[in-house]
Amino acid sequence: MHRSPPANLAGRRTAHGSLVTDSPAATRAVGRALGAAADPGAVLALIGPLGAGKTQLAKGVADGLGVTSVVNSPTFILMNEHAGRLRLFHIDAYRLAEPDEAAAAGLFDERQAFGVSVIEWAERLADELPDERLEIVIEPDATRHDRRTLRWTAMGVGHARLADDAFSDGSRLR
Ligand code: ADP
Ligand code: MG
Repeated sequence: MHRSPPANLAGRRTAHGSLVTDSPAATRAVGRALGAAADPGAVLALIGPLGAGKTQLAKGVADGLGVTSVVNSPTFILMNEHAGRLRLFHIDAYRLAEPDEAAAAGLFDERQAFGVSVIEWAERLADELPDERLEIVIEPDATRHDRRTLRWTAMGVGHARLADDAFSDGSRLR
C-alpha cells in the first residue's frame, strides 16, 4: 500500500490524493476504512472501466459499515440497499442511457441523506451527481495485473474529513 500525500485535510473544502493497491483485498481494505469512517450523507462516486474494482471497493465499504448481506454488482438493478451501522445505497449507473434519467430511474432517494451511497459508473450521472462527494477513479495498471491506482477527490468539508479519517491513518487501510 502506497499513499500520497500524508495529509491533514480536516477543514478543507476540496482535497485530493492517490492510493495504490496490489490486490483485491487491499482495495476492499480501502473501502472498509471509508465505511468505518463515513458519516450520514456520504456519497462515494466510483469511476473506472469494467473490472477496475468498483464492486470490490463497494464490498469493503459494506464491511466497514457492518453490512452482513452480500454485496454484488447491482447491474441489472439500479440500486440495492443494505442495512448496516448506516444504510448502504449501492447504485450502478451502467445501464443509464442519459444522466437526466437518474431521477426517473429512482437513483436518488431522500433517505440517502441518512445513509452512505456508493455509485458505480458515477461518470454516467455527470451533472446529476451531488456536488458534495468523494470521487474515486480506479485505474488498472498496464503491466501489473493486480495493481490499481485510486485517485480520489473529496468535495465538501464532510468528504474531505472522511478522506482524512480513512486515508491519513495507514493502520485503517489493512
Ligand atoms: P468493477 O465493479 O469495477 O467492474 P469488480 O470489483 O467487479 O470490478 O472486479 C474487479 C476484478 O479485478 C476482480 O476480479 C478482482 O479480483 C480483480 N482485481 C485484481 N487486482 C485488484 C485490485 N488491486 N483491486 C480490486 N480488484 C482487483
Ligand atoms: Mg461492478
